[in-house]
Amino acid sequence: QRSSSITSEDSQTNSGVSWVPSYFRVALIGSNGVGKSAISRQFLTSEYVGYDVTTPENEEQETTVSVLLDGEESIMEFTEDPQVTDLENLHVDAFIVAFSITDYSSFVAATSLIQHLRVTMGTDRTILLVANKIDLVRQRKVTAKGARDFAIKYDCDYRETSAVLNHHVDDLLVASLKQIRSKLSPPSE
Ligand code: GDP
Repeated sequence: QRSSSITSEDSQTNSGVSWVPSYFRVALIGSNGVGKSAISRQFLTSEYVGYDVTTPENEEQETTVSVLLDGEESIMEFTEDPQVTDLENLHVDAFIVAFSITDYSSFVAATSLIQHLRVTMGTDRTILLVANKIDLVRQRKVTAKGARDFAIKYDCDYRETSAVLNHHVDDLLVASLKQIRSKLSPPSE
């Protein structure tokens, strides 16, 4: 029924409408308590989400959403807390590595995860470093500059979010999809 929004003009002008949505997997990793579940729950409320594919009922369930961006639909599956020992064998298109700005050790953990990913997988995989809980400004233990400098050095996008306030979580969803798409080679005409 969604195809009703795709006109014949779209297909004739090849305006980028996908008939079959691409399916992308994203792993959300980071220390316990940094807000990974809260972030993935907020993805469901994004204005870019066309319809919920899976609304998780328990912690183990994956969040899967349909995202409409730039006239194209993509299905995105978010896996939380995969086994760290298996990270390089995970078939995912991107990693969102989260830490809490109130917990310096969670930043240190995030930096070692990213170093591990870059050593084992090189630079072809999308990685986003996310500083969460920015609503807790007065408890801040990690500076934006320190985190951003690290992200630049390791070829990662850097974002700051507050999952409880739903602040910049939408931007994170869009940024991860844009970067996954930009790493794919364009289809040959
Ligand atoms: P996870 O273990 O990484 O999945 O973390 P959770 O999503 O379970 O969050 C851990 C705790 O941090 C919960 O009590 C959340 O309500 C809280 N939390 C998550 N995100 C934020 C945030 O952006 N700001 C604040 N103040 N608390 C948050």
